[in-house]
Amino acid sequence: MKVLQERIRQEGEILSDTVLKVDSFLNHQVDPMLALEIGREFGRRFRDEQITKVLTIEASGIQFAMATAIDLQVPFVYAKKKKAITQGEQVFSAPVHSFTKGETYQISLARKYLTPGDKVLIVDDFLATGAALVGLADMVAESGAELVGVGCVIEKSFQEGRGLLEERGIRVHSLARIASMSPGQIEFIEEEMYIY
Ligand code: 5GP
Repeated sequence: MKVLQERIRQEGEILSDTVLKVDSFLNHQVDPMLALEIGREFGRRFRDEQITKVLTIEASGIQFAMATAIDLQVPFVYAKKKKAITQGEQVFSAPVHSFTKGETYQISLARKYLTPGDKVLIVDDFLATGAALVGLADMVAESGAELVGVGCVIEKSFQEGRGLLEERGIRVHSLARIASMSPGQIEFIEEEMYIY
């Protein structure tokens, strides 16, 4: 997605060889028009799959899951990073290690929102080590729902996440794929064109 690559080039701050900050338009302050466009793009790519639910993880996946769910006209649900007292005992849960925060936390999702009849599209902001998405994929597997694919806004292709997901046979679509980055320079992998 060219418009996304351009925003990353213009506004992204490359903090190190592995961490990209996009707080001005994706992760902290959010450009809602771009978020809607991202949702439409994921929608286009998964339109024929009869998705029944979009799944993400709080907090920074929510706006993209919502935009995608609006486009596909289905509900979205997000895994919580802390189990709320209101969630009760009926939850799926999985451990996730965050390499940006250096901590492991337990994510959880009420069982009633993911059921065997669901066809699920997982959406998240970044694909890095894949830990968050593998945790979500494990929950989908446990629920008996079908995981149709994963949509990531930004993939850092030099990290292991895509490989881990593909090893599990999961279809991965990323809208901007970063081949390499270092302060002052960023290289994207050019995707094949999608024709509809
Ligand atoms: P993963 O589990 O694939 O390592 O990364 C999961 C989460 O870490 C992403 O959803 C994202 O919130 C955060 N993350 C990973 N890499 C980056 C990065 O380079 N920049 C930012 N801002 N967040 C990242």
